Amino acid sequence: MNLEEENRNMVKYQLKNRGIHDEKVLNAFLKVKRHLFVPKSLEKYAYDDCPLPIGEGQTISQPYIIAFMLQILEIDKDDIVLEIGTGSGYQTALLAEIAPYVYSIERNESLAKNAKKKLEKLGYKNIKIVVGDGTMGWPDEEIKFDKIIVSASAPSVPDPLLKQLKEEGKMVIPIGSRTFQHLNIITKNKDGSIKVEYSDGCMFVPLLGKYGWQM
Ligand code: SAH
Repeated sequence: MNLEEENRNMVKYQLKNRGIHDEKVLNAFLKVKRHLFVPKSLEKYAYDDCPLPIGEGQTISQPYIIAFMLQILEIDKDDIVLEIGTGSGYQTALLAEIAPYVYSIERNESLAKNAKKKLEKLGYKNIKIVVGDGTMGWPDEEIKFDKIIVSASAPSVPDPLLKQLKEEGKMVIPIGSRTFQHLNIITKNKDGSIKVEYSDGCMFVPLLGKYGWQM
C-alpha cells in the first residue's frame, strides 16, 4: 500500500468510523500528508493510529485526537485561530486548510524553524509562527482569537489565553496532571463569562511555561 492510500484509509477508519463527520476537517486530513511531517525514518508509520516522535523529546499528535479537537472547535471561514505548540507543523497545516489565518506559538526554537520551513515550502501563506511561551498568549496583546487550540497539557487554563479569546470564541485545551488529562472545552459568553465542558481523557506532552508546568 502506498502512502496516499494509507492516508485515505486513515481518514476512513481512524476518523470517519470513529465519529469525525465535519467535512471541512475530513477534507483537510485528506489534503495534508502526515508523512511529510515525521522524520524520514518513521515515514512508514506516518498513518498509524498513534503519536510519533519528532525530535527534541516531542511528538506529533495522534491523528484522531487532532481531528476530534478540530471538530469541537467548529472553525468558521472567518475565524482567526491561535495554536499553542506548533511541533511538527502538521496540525498547523490542517488549521490553515480550514481557517483564513493561523497564528502559532512554539517554545522550541529548532522545532519552530523546521515547521516554518516546511509550511513555507508547501506554499502556506496564512500562517504566522513565533518562538515563545504560548502560555503568555500571542505577543501582540491587541489581537483576539475566535478559536484557540492548545496541543500540550496544562495544570489549569492559562489566564492570558482566556483574555485573548474573543467573546463567543472557543478554546480546547487538555487539563489535568502531567500524565493524564481531560480535554476542556471553553466557551466565552457574550458577557465575558466562561463556560467549561469536559470531554475525553487524553495524554499530551506538558505545556511548559509561566502559566503551565514549571520545568
Ligand atoms: N500539534 C503538534 C503537537 C506538538 S507536541 C503536532 O502535531 O506536531 C506539543 C508542542 O508544544 C511541543 O512541540 C512543545 O515544544 C510545545 N510546547 C510546550 N510548551 C509550550 C509553550 N509554553 N509554548 C509553546 N509551545 C509549547
